Amino acid sequence: MKKHHKFFILPLIALLVFGCGKKEKDEQVTEQRGEQPLAEQGEFKYKVDQFANLQILRYRVPGFEDLSLQQKKLAYYLSQAGLSGRDIIYDQNYRNNLTVRRMIEQIVIHFQGDRESDEFKNFMVFAKEVWFSNGIHHHYSTKKLVPDFSPGYLKNLLENSSEAVFPFNQGERLEDFEERMRPIIFDANVDAKRVNLAGNVDNVKESANNFYRNVSKQEVENFYKKIIDKNDPEPPLYGLNSQLTKENGKLVEKTWKVGGMYSAAIEKIVYWLEKAASVAENVQQKDALEKLTKYYKTGDLKDFDAYNIAWVKDTASVIDITNGFIEVYGDAMGYRGSYESVLSFKDPVASKRMAMLAHDAQWFEDNSPIMDEHKKKEVTGVTYKVITVINEAGDAAPSTPIGINLPNSSWIRKNYGSKSVSLGNILEAYEQASGPGVIDEFGYSQEEKDRVKKYGVLSGDLHTAMHEVIGHASGQLEPGVGTTAETLKNYASALEEGRADLVALYYLMDPKLMELGVMPSLEVGKTEYDSYIRNGLMLQLRRLKEGENIEEAHMRNRQMVAAWVFEKGKKDNVIERVEKDGKTFFVINDYQKLRVLFGELLREVQRVISQGDFKAGKALIENYGVIADQDLMKEVKERYQHLHTAPYSGFIQPKLIPVMENEEIVDVKVEYPMDFVEQMLDYGKDYSFLPNQN
Ligand code: ZN
Repeated sequence: MKKHHKFFILPLIALLVFGCGKKEKDEQVTEQRGEQPLAEQGEFKYKVDQFANLQILRYRVPGFEDLSLQQKKLAYYLSQAGLSGRDIIYDQNYRNNLTVRRMIEQIVIHFQGDRESDEFKNFMVFAKEVWFSNGIHHHYSTKKLVPDFSPGYLKNLLENSSEAVFPFNQGERLEDFEERMRPIIFDANVDAKRVNLAGNVDNVKESANNFYRNVSKQEVENFYKKIIDKNDPEPPLYGLNSQLTKENGKLVEKTWKVGGMYSAAIEKIVYWLEKAASVAENVQQKDALEKLTKYYKTGDLKDFDAYNIAWVKDTASVIDITNGFIEVYGDAMGYRGSYESVLSFKDPVASKRMAMLAHDAQWFEDNSPIMDEHKKKEVTGVTYKVITVINEAGDAAPSTPIGINLPNSSWIRKNYGSKSVSLGNILEAYEQASGPGVIDEFGYSQEEKDRVKKYGVLSGDLHTAMHEVIGHASGQLEPGVGTTAETLKNYASALEEGRADLVALYYLMDPKLMELGVMPSLEVGKTEYDSYIRNGLMLQLRRLKEGENIEEAHMRNRQMVAAWVFEKGKKDNVIERVEKDGKTFFVINDYQKLRVLFGELLREVQRVISQGDFKAGKALIENYGVIADQDLMKEVKERYQHLHTAPYSGFIQPKLIPVMENEEIVDVKVEYPMDFVEQMLDYGKDYSFLPNQN
């Protein structure tokens, strides 16, 4: 099962990642961490910009200077490899994204008109939103971004940027280009969603991403039904690294590899990976990097599997990278991987606590409320590390995961294990940047508020750790049942996320975690229960627009879980909806009973996944996870407005700068750029390798 989480890079160890990677994103974090000691921020400024519903943060890379010169060189080469693929995610997200981005870059650099006008400011907001989302669809909702300036103003921008070199098609003039761009940028109905997961549409045709061309959902299903051998004990992740298109009436996969689609960018990635392999920390890491390079050259998914196995085996290295076509959330069909790169090194101190959980993975499996036949007899190789991120690119930037669990291939996970990481310095940055206020506004009792201030950080970290280490690693399919992508289709991701969350929630009120020494009391579990219910039933609604329902998999999963236990607990008043001073609160009256309900739902979700019960899975998500309470949404948005915080955060990346002497790298320094626009323009200049259309 693929999960969700993201993976990352991690310390080498890491990741290889693909696994569950998922992006758990920021919300958990920003919502519950109450007050942060701003005074301790010292000189480092965490939050640098805010626009639309987004904010731009920075993160530190503490400990980088203590790495050896060889490790620093390795990190530098790997960061270059990661950034070299940046164009790929734009093109994967939408076939016109590179054109739009290059147009924006040229205008920002060359526009000679009034840069203080409201319209120009609105254009800059749009530009920053596009950079934030790696394209013209919102990174999270996947809906098309709607600019707050007119088509006439775009014309003005184009005509008054005389030094600009716009991405024209052959023979195109400025006025043709402007006409071609108009519907792409201004018509919300043209390519309206990047990923359309609705239950009643052709999810392939109605998704604007560039993973498929001229094919229908039915054709995709038939194509892979023919290829996938149900009896293969070691099936590759078919469709992971290609575009599926039609040539002369026949379906063909255009593979992303050297000499194939995206070759110009992949050649650069390979160039830097080969340099990295030459300074690898040890033989195992060198082997993994060479196998990754080979896979980029052949495009053979069996080479990718070989790489993942080598990567899982590398547990000793300090530096690690997740690099490749990894997570499949961008594809409504769950086949194609979005390009991402997460470079990191191991945080040994924080990793120790997580190792305690991994060590007892079998105990958690044995004591889980799921049915015996759905329990793994042997949970293998679950490792969980806290990593310090050095640099992220592709789908992992500017918006980042906070935990990564890879590889995604279930048989590799089962036979060789997987790596789970928590992105320690990213979490730290979220905490430092989040103002007080959210919990004061949405918490009900003083007791609840005090608890968050005391345990909010720990409970969030533990939830993430349990979700990744134990949750995604748990459970098994019944014999003969296909992968979740096959059986549960567009509901697979939400159900898998729900399963991992439920494992975490169930155990966060278990004394076992105190025995292990990872939490001081059950107050930590109560904190997480309060936070999860508050977010799942209420706070996450702020991310939607009026009239919208919930589409994103993690949001669906969270509401499904919270709404299900709310309903099932009604007769015992387990969770109470309270109105006070015209404001709504969800108050938990019985934490132990709530834990029992989480256990019951976990058992059912695991059954749905293990048996591939599409009908029951669909009913859970559609009945509990999709419909957004519009009145509550309105209320939440109003209450949030006073808090001056944006619902989504992304990051400016630290920059690695080699110090040269006689053409040799003698040191590598980390710089922390302050300006998001400047970094985006620099990236556009330094890492732009693909044609406008691919
Ligand atoms: Zn997950």
